[in-house]
Amino acid sequence: MISFEQLYQWQPSRPTYGVIGYPIRHSLSPVMQRAAMNVLGINADYLAFEVPPDQLIPGLNYLEKIGVRGLNLTLPHKIQVLPWLHEISQEVKAIGAANTIQLGLRKGYNTDAPGFSRAIESVFHKKLGELRILLLGAGGAGRAIAYQALSEKCQQLILANRTLDKVEQLKKDLSTHFKNNKVHCLTLEPSSKSILAETLKQVDLIVNATSLGLRENDPSLIPQDCFQSHHLVFDTIYQPAITSLMREAQQAGAQTANGLLMLLYQGALAFEIWFSKPAPIDVMKQALTRV
Ligand code: NAP
Repeated sequence: MISFEQLYQWQPSRPTYGVIGYPIRHSLSPVMQRAAMNVLGINADYLAFEVPPDQLIPGLNYLEKIGVRGLNLTLPHKIQVLPWLHEISQEVKAIGAANTIQLGLRKGYNTDAPGFSRAIESVFHKKLGELRILLLGAGGAGRAIAYQALSEKCQQLILANRTLDKVEQLKKDLSTHFKNNKVHCLTLEPSSKSILAETLKQVDLIVNATSLGLRENDPSLIPQDCFQSHHLVFDTIYQPAITSLMREAQQAGAQTANGLLMLLYQGALAFEIWFSKPAPIDVMKQALTRV
């Protein structure tokens, strides 16, 4: 890892890619991307750069100047990077967040959105288009998932968030790209438990895209007695590997998965953008599961 204190003394000795975030120590991306580069004999390195939010733009300018070629962006930089970019993909425009960039060209992409879709298909053998979805969270990840669910014409999308304004804004933003009325908004307040319970009876897939669950003892946003055995429950969090949401859903007989496969597929798509060749998915997956 290159800390912010080390950044301006550091120079790459070979073509370099990386992930930039704050904090970044926990990132599994270097292990996964290095394994992919090694197996394909690509002479390049992939490093984690720790850059605080107020230093993102000077940090990117420096990394570009010394020849770093591509970056993944993680918390809290996915939105703040947008003004720095010269070109953004259609997905980034709709989602309002980029997680993969090419330096030099300054082009931004969002691979979280299709990465999520591939993860759902791989783990639950369902396409988003078949599903009625309850999405918890309206930050960068929530916006990407909502966009992807509507692009694939999901049966219904319920957006739930602690701050209601954010989901209402998201619904409004999405309505400029998708002309339909499949989107409903819900606040995650203890007082709305009965509405949530009724809603959950008519939902197939529950997705946690909030940061609640990142700490071992974080509670679940869904009351335990609301889970049903037909539910598919996907937590975008992968550390810890089992969150309270997943544990309580499992106790009700629901199928669950954490966000490791989403990390894998968003990383594989980023690799393909940078190197214009198929990512060695199996090798990347093995690298992640060995950690
Ligand atoms: P973000 O932009 O900061 O959004 C955070 C979201 O979490 C907001 O909706 C926020 O609600 C909600 N939240 C935070 N604390 C909460 C609490 N105590 N109770 C209820 N809601 C709470 O973060 P992000 O980038 O979207 O990331 C969200 C999660 O997705 C993180 O856990 C991240 O690890 C995960 N993620 C995983 C992958 C993957 O590849 N697996 C990729 C991207 C992100 P308010 O609007 O009310 O503040």
